[in-house]
Amino acid sequence: MRRPLVAGNWKMHGSRESVAALVAGLPQVRLEVDVAVFPPYVYIPQVLEALADSAIGVGAQNVSEQRQGAYTGEIAADMLRDIGCRYVIVGHSERRSLYGESDQQVADKFIAAGTEGLIPILCVGETLVQREQGETLAVIARQLDAVIAAAGLEAVCAAVIAYEPVWAIGTGKTATAEQAQQVHWAIRQRLGATGENTRLLYGGSVKAANAAELFAQPDIDGALVGGASLDSAEFGEICKLA
Ligand code: PEP
Repeated sequence: MRRPLVAGNWKMHGSRESVAALVAGLPQVRLEVDVAVFPPYVYIPQVLEALADSAIGVGAQNVSEQRQGAYTGEIAADMLRDIGCRYVIVGHSERRSLYGESDQQVADKFIAAGTEGLIPILCVGETLVQREQGETLAVIARQLDAVIAAAGLEAVCAAVIAYEPVWAIGTGKTATAEQAQQVHWAIRQRLGATGENTRLLYGGSVKAANAAELFAQPDIDGALVGGASLDSAEFGEICKLA
């Protein structure tokens, strides 16, 4: 039995004041569902403190693949663990496309996170052009296989995988439940028996209005939510549906 996870990626939004308001409005977590939020780095301590008595987990949106040293501007996995983070997102499409992260770098970040006991949420997804050219499953397999080759199948299966079609992120266009399920099923096949309990999240313009249909699919175990996670009431509704 896979326990659903709803993760809120706040991206580069917020201020001390708005973060306090957002956290105050977060839902009470039901025992059978995991919820986590991913604030910008500088607000993580504030959120950890505010959620100290809550079951809601906190994670980072990115991590360095390096352990420590002269890497100006980078944050290491052991620093995230040290302050109390439980999760880290790796390979988000914005990191891949805007910051040029390669499959290998994503794999290295995945390993750095896992080595420190953080749970990586590994994002994979195709662009619109790749979907239109019929390359969706090949792209997902390439992104996944790069991490499996570097970190091993067991480590990938112990993590969380988020399928996020790039064309659905922040665009208001959601993959249909069938499109999402098809890719989730393919990911599950790739993981084989070891991946029976691996949580596969869908991400891409998830909101309360479309979450129930997505969550009803047999291989969708929750969501990675961007824009809608900045509205605590909307995010709470999504969590209730998981
Ligand atoms: C995301 O950033 O991971 C995401 C899915 O964003 P949105 O929900 O806004 O499409």
